[in-house]
Amino acid sequence: MHNSNLLRQIPKVDELLSHTLLAPLQPRTMLTQAARAVLDNLRCDIQHKRITALPCPKSLAQEVANHFHGFHRPNLQRVINGTGIILHTNLGRAPLAKEALEAVHDAARDYSNLEYCITKGKRSSRHAHTEDLITRLTGAEAAMVVNNNAAAVLLALTVAQQKDVIVSRGELVEIGGSFRVPDVLVQSGCRLVEVGTTNKTHPVDYERAIIPGQTGALLRVHTSNFIMSGFVAKPSLQALADIAQKHDIPLIEDLGSGCMIPLAQYGVHGQPVVADSIKAGVDIVTFSGDKLLGGPQAGIIAGQAGLITKMKAHPLARAMRIDKLCIAALEATLRLYLDPETAVAKIPTLQMLCTPPEKLHEKALLLKEHLDVSNIGEITVIKEASLAGGGAMPEEGLTTAAVAINAHISAQAIEQHFRMGPIPIIGRISRDKFILDARTISTEDFPYIAARLKEA
Ligand SMILES: *Cc1c(COP(=O)(O)O)cnc(C)c1O
Repeated sequence: MHNSNLLRQIPKVDELLSHTLLAPLQPRTMLTQAARAVLDNLRCDIQHKRITALPCPKSLAQEVANHFHGFHRPNLQRVINGTGIILHTNLGRAPLAKEALEAVHDAARDYSNLEYCITKGKRSSRHAHTEDLITRLTGAEAAMVVNNNAAAVLLALTVAQQKDVIVSRGELVEIGGSFRVPDVLVQSGCRLVEVGTTNKTHPVDYERAIIPGQTGALLRVHTSNFIMSGFVAKPSLQALADIAQKHDIPLIEDLGSGCMIPLAQYGVHGQPVVADSIKAGVDIVTFSGDKLLGGPQAGIIAGQAGLITKMKAHPLARAMRIDKLCIAALEATLRLYLDPETAVAKIPTLQMLCTPPEKLHEKALLLKEHLDVSNIGEITVIKEASLAGGGAMPEEGLTTAAVAINAHISAQAIEQHFRMGPIPIIGRISRDKFILDARTISTEDFPYIAARLKEA
């Protein structure tokens, strides 16, 4: 049929809305919007010759109903993370501890003393809620919190007062999402002075680059997401701190993940601990709230009181200000760190990171028991490597256990089936098999995963 004929046959909004299927749906104003959207799409499909006949009234009404229900469905929704990547940036990084959730709930529901000192009955600072905890846990004199670590780095660089900032060529990294150290430095108004080479930078390289009155800071960057090995060298933090102190310029360190407690006893190695940086003499250290810390998105700045005071008063600080819900979550998370064992037991990120391989194997076996694949194929428990993610431990795969579904239908089809359910389950495909990593899946979700597989 000719396009213009089809266009003429498109039903009127009222006609479409009178279908019995749509009778119970309220409010009608939203239903009208849904009907208009469906008819607009239909018109567009006809104009672009994507259809050659009109859908029947019932299927049009069904489409309106689907569109209507879509208004109520949140865009941001929970997913089940079967990738094994603990700090998956695309999947929201760190899930919060129960204590943090409760704190968020209370802060969100009611008024709070966000910027009010209850004992003095006067205005106070929002930084007060987390500063004591951060200084106690890191050994720093003072601390403040901003929106994220990228903001923290930018604010920290303001202490260099738009002068030269000296960085090793081996640390001019891109973290992802266009966060590139040289670019951030330029945005801070400072001038980047590169020293050393890609693989080796020595203390003397920094020494030689320092010009009295012109050098504003030394910057050390944790090269979170990549590793160099072989013929490589960089000064110890201690050596850098000594140089900075001798010339009376601040040493800033962007730690990226920033671990609050040593995790070696749990089999997790090579993570720099914030307190060690402060002890070594770093003047300002910055790190994320939602990487290894396992809290909400935030950027934590800890260090010398004089410098932190200046940063708190900087105009940028207001633009980067952390909101009350994040403060609530961060405070509750930090409080769990007062006892490291409690932190590992209760903060999901640490709990998942520190689960030993034997326990993960048991967990994967339990998941396998839940899953009935008799209709589509077979299932095995395999040893895999999972990643911490979020730029933590790029070199170290953590030994993990996963279930691999070996089905008659393609791994891509299974992947899509799991992804498109009411609660999306995100796994990965490895060697033509669909894989769910036990590390990042809660046992509470096993029955749902099993039910979803049955529908495959
Ligand atoms: C992740 C990271 C950042 C950015 O931190 P966000 O919290 O994502 O803003 C900056 N520097 C390093 C070294 C990082 O690893």
